[in-house]
Amino acid sequence: MHCPFCGAQDTRVTDSRLVAEGDQVRRRRQCAECGERFTTYETAELVMPRIIKADGTREVFDEAKLRAGMLRALEKRPVSAEAIEAAVERIRQHLRARGEREVHARVVGEEVMGALKRLDQVAYIRFASVYRSFQDIDEFRAEIDRLAQEPNFPPDGSTRGDGR
Ligand SMILES: [Zn+2]
Repeated sequence: MHCPFCGAQDTRVTDSRLVAEGDQVRRRRQCAECGERFTTYETAELVMPRIIKADGTREVFDEAKLRAGMLRALEKRPVSAEAIEAAVERIRQHLRARGEREVHARVVGEEVMGALKRLDQVAYIRFASVYRSFQDIDEFRAEIDRLAQEPNFPPDGSTRGDGR
């Protein structure tokens, strides 16, 4: 890091500590040339990628909208608010971890489907049926049959989670 006072390239860190409950690193630095001291703060890049919609337009990532879509699918299902929040946070993390400035809405949709699939199969089917806009009832039936073949995905609608 260059010295902001004289522009020298050689500055050294004299102190380094976590601040903001560990979300930030504060560093005291001193210039080897002019001796001036200054402070830098380091935080993780938390900017969410923008969303590319099907028609090519872009919009900002809207967490409230994401949550609303999930809650609609999870209506009257036995899933705790805590589990839903954890799923929302996981989706945010996955999207950020891609390290891209923009992601297709389809990617977000697939993330939501993946999350709902783990949370509740009925909610998953509800969301998938709307999201994938199944062409006809046969296609919908095929998806349900395919799901029924998967382990940990009982076809009878139970959420016992005991593997039967
Ligand atoms: Zn300097």
